[in-house]
Amino acid sequence: MKYNLETLAIHAGQDPEAMTGAVTVPIFQTSTYAQEALGQPRLGYEYSRTNNPTRQAYEQCLAALEGARHGIAFASGMATTNNCMYLLQSGDEVLCSDDVYGGTFRFFTKVMSKFGIKVHFVNTSDLSQVEKSLHPGIKLVWLESPTNPLLKLTDIRAVCKLAKANGSLVVVDNTFMSPAFQRPLELGADIVMHSATKYLGGHSDLVGGIMATNSDEINETMRFHQNAVGAIPGPFDCWLALRGLKTLAVRMQAHARNAQALAEFLESHPAVRQVIYPGLASHPQHALARTQMQGFGGMISFEVKGGLQEAKTLVESTKLFLLAESLGGVESLIEVPATMTHASIPRERRLEMGIADGLIRISVGIENFEDLKADLEQALARAVSKTFV
Ligand SMILES: *Cc1c(COP(=O)(O)O)cnc(C)c1O
Repeated sequence: MKYNLETLAIHAGQDPEAMTGAVTVPIFQTSTYAQEALGQPRLGYEYSRTNNPTRQAYEQCLAALEGARHGIAFASGMATTNNCMYLLQSGDEVLCSDDVYGGTFRFFTKVMSKFGIKVHFVNTSDLSQVEKSLHPGIKLVWLESPTNPLLKLTDIRAVCKLAKANGSLVVVDNTFMSPAFQRPLELGADIVMHSATKYLGGHSDLVGGIMATNSDEINETMRFHQNAVGAIPGPFDCWLALRGLKTLAVRMQAHARNAQALAEFLESHPAVRQVIYPGLASHPQHALARTQMQGFGGMISFEVKGGLQEAKTLVESTKLFLLAESLGGVESLIEVPATMTHASIPRERRLEMGIADGLIRISVGIENFEDLKADLEQALARAVSKTFV
């Protein structure tokens, strides 16, 4: 029987526990397992870095949601990215979206460079740039779609085709969409990865990462490295993430419903210069968003009229939208990329990329829409003086 995503979220990897019939996967908070006889571990469990039943249930569930055979969990999104890089050898090259998560950029440029891995950053939204930049030395293509905070899309299917012809693996960071709205493996990617800290966990109460693949070979290598390197999540964090997954589908629908309505409200507001949201007809890649994704997500970026001062007043005036980095939780968050998440990028480069000083990013939560709208409305009124309106 083939089940749909909402059903898999609640049942995949989560058969009632064998001994008691507990319907919720227990937190197997143990480091080791007693063996039946010398060299005979029960059911293959020997040591919790290598394997743990709570982690296994979580890995199986996420894999099912991504339509994958295998899932492997890590201590954070960055630990997952790190492990993907162990698929490479010194001297290999990587092609990467130029608008990736800041931590990914930092890891590729400041850490991987020390081990002889060269990363080329290109605008992967532009297929001709991808085509021009691919050469036999590129062993891996790293995509993020939509990007952060400009919500630029990459045609994942088209890039996978080009990469495959070049013999390169494709990894897609699917953190912003979650499998509820985008399934990169179905579009041709070899690996899909997540910061589980965001929508998968969904409640801003854990840091974690996870990947999924249909390749037995990739699974074998990364599973070996998971154990050999050891950046694994503890049983309680796996249990929290698994609990988060159960409501992923309904949460994503609620995030997207609120975000669509807020994006439309912001677009019609006189104090707002520009709104970026894939669900708006004004988004330059709205057509691609409609075919590649099953929903438009919960992230919106918008530019308030004026500049940094107006942005500062706005984010300090909201009451429900909490001023914080991160995203993907049930509560709404607001931030200024220029001084927070993207402060490490030089201002010139930021402006070149399109990250204006007055750009604001919101992670739309699942609170009541009218309450969220009223909160932004009063904050906008405070932030932008009459001269701009
Ligand atoms: C947060 C984030 C990461 C890093 O994940 P951590 O869990 O913080 O290590 C990677 N990619 C994207 C898109 C993210 O938002």
